[in-house]
Amino acid sequence: MNSRKQSYRLRPILATLLAPLLAAIVASAASGQQCAVKPVSIPLGQTIRLRCSVAAATARMNGRTVRLFKQTDGDWQGLMPVAVADKPGTYPIEFLAEDGTTLSSLNLTIRKTIFPSQNVVLAPQIEALHSTTEEMQTLTTFRDSVSDIKYWDDPLVPPLPGCVISPFGVKRLHNGKPTGEFHAGVDQRASEGTPIRAVAGGIVKIVQPFNVLGGTAAIDHGQGLETMYLHMSKLNVELGAHVNKGDIIGYVGATGRANGPHLHWVIYVNGVPVNPQQWVTLKPCATAKNKP
Ligand SMILES: [Zn+2]
Repeated sequence: MNSRKQSYRLRPILATLLAPLLAAIVASAASGQQCAVKPVSIPLGQTIRLRCSVAAATARMNGRTVRLFKQTDGDWQGLMPVAVADKPGTYPIEFLAEDGTTLSSLNLTIRKTIFPSQNVVLAPQIEALHSTTEEMQTLTTFRDSVSDIKYWDDPLVPPLPGCVISPFGVKRLHNGKPTGEFHAGVDQRASEGTPIRAVAGGIVKIVQPFNVLGGTAAIDHGQGLETMYLHMSKLNVELGAHVNKGDIIGYVGATGRANGPHLHWVIYVNGVPVNPQQWVTLKPCATAKNKP
């Protein structure tokens, strides 16, 4: 009896003590300490790392929703791409639980980014190459799939040591005519037959020749990360194979719409092409560097 009376008396005292504590917990959740984004300011065409210490199922920003996955260290992680065509500005990234409740909201600043133009000289029969409907469908299916198992880990390795002839994001002209397209990957200099290596572990999802892309291999690294390698002279993997980081998947060529042997490769983050030079260190070619 006595103890109950005491507990009644204790209640307002406890409430007084707990109120600031609860307020602090709510404030820390609101300030996003359960989740983090890295970096918080980014150019167009780059990738943001998302991490939560609580069970976040998805994150959304500016109409784009990506999944987060539980990692072996107990955290939930995901990758948010910023497309080349996104509008610079400050946007909230909202983290949502499985039931749709908002766990956290953090601001991301997308910086104004200038991409230079680059003309590519192509022979008429090469310029005339076009993708078929089936080819487009194969690529769309690959880009749209996000698989649960993570086969990749940091850091990724460059597919070959050659310097960058053409960086990601440049506005492309073909024989002086604007294509209205941007360069969705990087071109690395390499001679015909140079081995091309998987930048990370994964499952081979495409191995075939395409009209425009030439000899192509595409790898699903899991949890929203994918890569694709084009213009190969020879393919060295089979569909469905599991590859490890550094495995030779093919050899440099000039197949498809290419004006000479080189490797064009692409990183897709949740279906959006992003700048591979945020993921791996590549040196620019001297000629590209000296261009105005
Ligand atoms: Zn290219």
